[in-house]
Amino acid sequence: MARTDSDADAIVIGAGAAGLAAARSLAAHSLRVIVVEARDRVGGRVVSRSSQHSGVSAELGAEFIHGQAPETRALLREAGISSVDTGDESWSCSGDGDLLRDERDLAMTASIFEEARKLRQDETVDHFLRRFAHDGSMREAAEMARVFVEGFDAADPSIASVRSVADEVYSGVDFASARPDGGYGPMFNRLHEDCVRAGAQMSLSTEVRRISWRRGLVSVETRQASGETNTFRARAAIVTLPTGVLRNSGDDGSVAFDPDLPSGKSEAIRRIEMGHVVKVVLWFRTAFWEVLRGGRYRDSAFFRCMGQEFPTYWTQFPQRNGLIVAWVGGPKAIALRETTQTELIERALDGFGSMFGEVELARREFEAGSMHDWSHDPFARGAYSYVTVGADDPRATLAAPVDDTLFFAGEATSNDGQGGTVNGALQTGERAAREAATSLGVLR
Ligand SMILES: Cc1cc2nc3c(=O)[nH]c(=O)nc-3n(C[C@H](O)[C@H](O)[C@H](O)COP(=O)(O)OP(=O)(O)OC[C@H]3O[C@@H](n4cnc5c(N)ncnc54)[C@H](O)[C@@H]3O)c2cc1C
Repeated sequence: MARTDSDADAIVIGAGAAGLAAARSLAAHSLRVIVVEARDRVGGRVVSRSSQHSGVSAELGAEFIHGQAPETRALLREAGISSVDTGDESWSCSGDGDLLRDERDLAMTASIFEEARKLRQDETVDHFLRRFAHDGSMREAAEMARVFVEGFDAADPSIASVRSVADEVYSGVDFASARPDGGYGPMFNRLHEDCVRAGAQMSLSTEVRRISWRRGLVSVETRQASGETNTFRARAAIVTLPTGVLRNSGDDGSVAFDPDLPSGKSEAIRRIEMGHVVKVVLWFRTAFWEVLRGGRYRDSAFFRCMGQEFPTYWTQFPQRNGLIVAWVGGPKAIALRETTQTELIERALDGFGSMFGEVELARREFEAGSMHDWSHDPFARGAYSYVTVGADDPRATLAAPVDDTLFFAGEATSNDGQGGTVNGALQTGERAAREAATSLGVLR
């Protein structure tokens, strides 16, 4: 039976990085806040899992701190958590089956995208990279740039905006610079505790189905796993739903707006695609690769083999344990969307062993594998967002408030090159909270 819950000043939809940052900030202004989250946990696209055997914890979603990430580092400091710089020692497959030291990729990618910043009109990454196909000196860099767009941005180069990729490359976001010590989990626990301590009401396992709004009043209709429905009312709402959810018009996990969002906003949502990623974690009994070939891979951080199904693997260096992550993004990840998790773990395992010519050894050392299927997850529908080709910046359009009543946050609304990151999400949560607090009259 439907019932109407007590009023709040603001409803925050989603308890990922953006939602928690927004709720914490609003509650700190003594505003009455309700956070509505479909999952039975906070964190959204940040989730850890431990090996049953060794107890080593792995991140199935976000893992790295990219670049400066000031909001993330401030939160870690507050929580007394340190960050650990990752190594950058990389090994790439050579044509003759050997692995060679190779740390050129980011610098080469940057040199290509420098050219893109001079373009007068946006174009797809594919179209842009075709210019270098016959340029002997740039051809390899262009190939690296494509690998970067697919692997790091999880984007499809045939539709991705080259201008937005170039802006990101020059915004100071780099591939991997650090990890929170012990993973992201403790930082999210701390954010969650701060929200509760400041008085925010957390409603987990509560799926939002419809958001009805007019200036100064929002009604959020929800459904719980038990089938119970509730309506929460507030003077404002902060929507942090991933664009995969905002774009979905099917039955599973979709959210209706009544009235519809303004057409500019819908067009922006259409232009912001969800990138796809398959991230598989492999726990081994020992870090067996550290002792191969006289220990030459002992301090390695990354292994890359472009022809393979999983072109990138990484270790936890400088931490020494038996955890390896296999990663593939973009069209190659989409091609694997219907492959079972058991099969993906097997293929990731064999791919890792084959890089060293040690498939049997890898199998002997293998303890367990795990992954989360973000593409089919109804509350994500992909890994993280990227911008498709077009004239203006859809992230800024998506971020803009509607009628001083609906406010928008989440990584997809980050328009300073940090889209797709935890830090971008935290930043947008704080930004939307400031906007809402101003509209609610507690901030000037
Ligand atoms: C495999 C993978 C690897 C990544 N690696 C990194 C990395 O190394 N570094 C990095 O910085 N970033 C990384 N990211 C991206 C990062 O995880 C995200 O950018 C960030 O966590 C997004 O936070 P958010 O709050 O915007 O969205 P989310 O975390 O998705 O939060 C939105 C919340 O809304 C909830 N929700 C959805 N639908 C509904 C509904 N109908 N009703 C109620 N609630 C709903 C969701 O359950 C979720 O909790 C990675 C992501 C993935 C998937």
